[in-house]
Amino acid sequence: MAPDWRDQASCAGEDPEIFFPLSDSASPGDEAFLARTICRRCPVLLVCRSWAIDHGEDDGIWGATTAAQRRAIRRARLGPQK
Ligand code: SF4
Repeated sequence: MAPDWRDQASCAGEDPEIFFPLSDSASPGDEAFLARTICRRCPVLLVCRSWAIDHGEDDGIWGATTAAQRRAIRRARLGPQK
């Protein structure tokens, strides 16, 4: 079986609640800030982020992005709406 990018995830073993904060606020001390700090050292950050964007993942921190950031990326990919 092909290796899965999740096998290299830096968040493995971390408290999942860190990655599903109640708020998207990512100021120092917030859960989202801690999650994004862990993501930034993750060797699969880009593939994780792409997976979350492509799959419409609309909850939690994935690839150092908040749900709002991923929605903005998806909107930008669609281009200007008429
Ligand atoms: S980028 Fe973040 S959420 Fe994605 S696998 Fe790595 S640590 Fe986990």
